[in-house]
Amino acid sequence: MRETEQKAAKAYTEKFGGTPDLVASAPGRINLIGEHTDYNGGFVLPCAIDRRIAVAVGTGEGGLYSADFNETREPGKKDDSWADYPRGVAWAMGEEGHEADSFRAAFAGDVPLGSGLSSSAAIEAATALALDALLGLGIGRKDLAVLCQRAENDYVGVASGIMDQYASLLCEAGAALLVDCRSLEARSVPLDLAAAGLALVVCDTRVERGLADTGYNDRRSTCESAASTLGIEELRDATEEDLKRLSGEELKRARHVVSENARVLEAVEALNNNDFNRFGHLMYASHASLRDDYEVSTPELDTFVETAKQHGARGARLTGAGFGGCAIALVPEAQSDKVKQACEQNFAEADFEKPAFYEFVPAAGAELANKPG
Ligand code: ADP
Ligand code: MG
Repeated sequence: MRETEQKAAKAYTEKFGGTPDLVASAPGRINLIGEHTDYNGGFVLPCAIDRRIAVAVGTGEGGLYSADFNETREPGKKDDSWADYPRGVAWAMGEEGHEADSFRAAFAGDVPLGSGLSSSAAIEAATALALDALLGLGIGRKDLAVLCQRAENDYVGVASGIMDQYASLLCEAGAALLVDCRSLEARSVPLDLAAAGLALVVCDTRVERGLADTGYNDRRSTCESAASTLGIEELRDATEEDLKRLSGEELKRARHVVSENARVLEAVEALNNNDFNRFGHLMYASHASLRDDYEVSTPELDTFVETAKQHGARGARLTGAGFGGCAIALVPEAQSDKVKQACEQNFAEADFEKPAFYEFVPAAGAELANKPG
């Protein structure tokens, strides 16, 4: 068992006595390329990270226990705490006709929370996989992901696309996941960074995403109006030729979406050919498009990308919705400390918040652990 899985199992025993019936865990994720494409029916390319949330479950009373928050919550009522995520999953299962209310669970994890690495999807996915196995529901992974999204959207009350839950449940170790956000088809794409001698460096700019909600909603509605100007359902269906019929903001936003979708598909081809130079160029192009056409970057995110580039990164870009949050870079392993140091220094000189850095390995999606004890 992984460390987080052992921790969850131990917490279960301490809290409830006995050993759990089973332990499951699920990872956070980062999006490699394909930003602001999800709500336009387009493509995204996330990979799971080697940080997970584990849950140990069994039947019976006792409630929900978090080892990280050191607190127990009742399974029933929504209370705007961490427990709403597992409650939401049980609720969504109920909505689908699967009774899921007689269980107890202990959680432990190491996904940085609230950093845009999707700890929320990790706790949902771990819970969903664990309950599915505990109760013998036989729900497929894609349906579990949709169910988790429903928990987050309709129970917790956070509007989000399908990417996070898909990544957490469907990713494979050493691979990225191409997701078609319209058809919900997904397939693994090789991402052997170790063989290429590359590190995936993540910079959390620690910028509070203050304007994120309005900025995000504005862009969504501009995309919708651009699509309706073109007489199409979603910008996924727009072509470069179509862009000539747009102007102003509609043109800029649509140009990002059209070019970004093309970049994702090209990025998949690059990874299939182990061509990290091409992949890196696509990352830089994605960042430029997000900065200039979609206008969701910040000076901090731009500084990270520029600094990484100056210090030998093959590619770098902001990841997530923008307006703060995280950026990523693919950096030759030997250069990664240099990139972080230079970035920290440039941030300090510009009077930015001190950033946090992570390095991740493309990891496996949600899994059941071997039975403890
Ligand atoms: P993100 O998904 O970007 O990390 P969110 O705000 O969507 O940020 O989700 C963070 C929330 O997920 C936390 O506030 C907490 O409620 C829940 N969560 C994250 N990690 C854990 C954990 N280890 N144990 C219990 N709940 C967690
Ligand atoms: Mg989240």
